[in-house]
Amino acid sequence: MNKICFHLLSLALLALPSLSIQADGQSNNKIKNVILIIGDGMGPAQIGLLETYARQATNPVIENRITAFTRMLNEGAALGISMTYAANVMGTDSASSATQLATGKAARPDTIGIDSDGNSSVTALEIAKKLGKSTGLVSDVRLTHATPASFAAHQASRTMENKIAIDLLTTGVDVMLSGGLRHWIPEQANDKSSAIFKQLTELTTGSIKITSKRKDQRNLLMEAQQAGYQLAFNKQQLDAISEQSGKILGIFSDSNLPNGIKAHRTKNHSTIPTLKEMSAKALDVLQKNDQGFFLMIEAGLIDWAAHDNDTGTLLHEMLKINETLNYVLDWAAKREDTMVIVTADHETGGFGFSYSANNILASISLPGAAFKETGYQSSFNYGATQILDKLYNQKLSYDDMLSKVFDSLDSEQKTPLALMKIINQNTEFKITEQQAARVLATEQNDYYVADHKDLSLKQVPKMDVNDAFFVYQSDNRRNLLAIEVAEQQSVVWSNGTHTASPVLVFVKGNKKVSDDFVRFMWQPELGQKIIELIKAD
Ligand code: MG
Ligand code: ZN
Repeated sequence: MNKICFHLLSLALLALPSLSIQADGQSNNKIKNVILIIGDGMGPAQIGLLETYARQATNPVIENRITAFTRMLNEGAALGISMTYAANVMGTDSASSATQLATGKAARPDTIGIDSDGNSSVTALEIAKKLGKSTGLVSDVRLTHATPASFAAHQASRTMENKIAIDLLTTGVDVMLSGGLRHWIPEQANDKSSAIFKQLTELTTGSIKITSKRKDQRNLLMEAQQAGYQLAFNKQQLDAISEQSGKILGIFSDSNLPNGIKAHRTKNHSTIPTLKEMSAKALDVLQKNDQGFFLMIEAGLIDWAAHDNDTGTLLHEMLKINETLNYVLDWAAKREDTMVIVTADHETGGFGFSYSANNILASISLPGAAFKETGYQSSFNYGATQILDKLYNQKLSYDDMLSKVFDSLDSEQKTPLALMKIINQNTEFKITEQQAARVLATEQNDYYVADHKDLSLKQVPKMDVNDAFFVYQSDNRRNLLAIEVAEQQSVVWSNGTHTASPVLVFVKGNKKVSDDFVRFMWQPELGQKIIELIKAD
């Protein structure tokens, strides 16, 4: 699309009929609060995984088998659909997609809060702030990662996380709860004998690994404190902060927060708040503002599990967003002044349960006349529902099994046999030593790019097909493991990146307003609608 087309498009978007919120003139129909929940990488198939688990697992951990998504629609939410492509291309990444949602304008891959020409774009959060509303960002990855960053920072590249941290402070988002301490503390903190290392260890009560990615001596935690923020580094400290405090900066990990499996298993004794707990605190604080608030909550690790093609962990990430969404729906129940929007930036991994030629199920007898003589046998293996329980039972993520447990072994112990044991102890989808050897096999990198963040390894895990679509090359053993268990799981993944599948948009609150989302949109158009809601008060 050329520049002129973009101008025409912007005009077309501006010309959309404005929301008839004030038309009925009733104060109880005013929109005060907007809560946007983004499942990063949560395409329709990822929601389908949660839904299939709820409906078909033997004993799902979901009350009455009703997911928060089903609940939302049962309670009258509107359902729209949105294309996710970035400016001038077919595909997208989290930076461009979140920027499109945040600004209502087309954006290019990798960019944060800027339009397709490279100009800074005002975001929904900044508009809310200008209108006197409170603002919040909650994420289970890093505060400076692409999705939260796109709502309150303006940088040419998502990789500029040190600058993004400064932007977040400058924008002055009232409540920020997430991970990623490494971008907020001075470089000098890497020296364990330094005073700042000791000071930060005390401040964080030892809950977080002190390591900095900054290339300067700025201590953004101190700067935040001077700007009136209360700081929290663990659940206890977060709980102790008064709801009246207004501004909170809570950072609970050096990088991302625990994945869904770990978060679930350590729920009752972790020092790290869950996505639900962070969201609850944000709501407690933000609701004190009579002018209302804008809150963006990201379930960011859905995307990471899907990049790894790790179905068991993905299920746990979907359970995490399910729990969080249920909390938000409870909070917003019967509130006509609050709109809850749940969507995704894109689909990740090309996930799907599939039928296969492997292990075709035996013939069974059925009571109906049609199968009386012969019994019933399907032509292929359509996937036994017990697979869902086995997926739930996974004990560690592929990332943890490979990068933490296996990679921590001494080099002479890193054998296929050792890997096989680790995998077989932690999932019910067992692999053989020969399969483990295939996961560990390497080859020369056909896509080598010197100094590239992801493509600069000379030797990489050996992918047999579509190598070019598995771009996070150092992580590709996880994707190879997924291929080895695919037949057992009745699962296929098509890549290690994103697909351009449209995403679903659930909207609940004022019915007149939510009905305007029942259409086939593109992310910038959806972003404009969100901005309209914020301005509608
Ligand atoms: Mg994200
Ligand atoms: Zn992604």
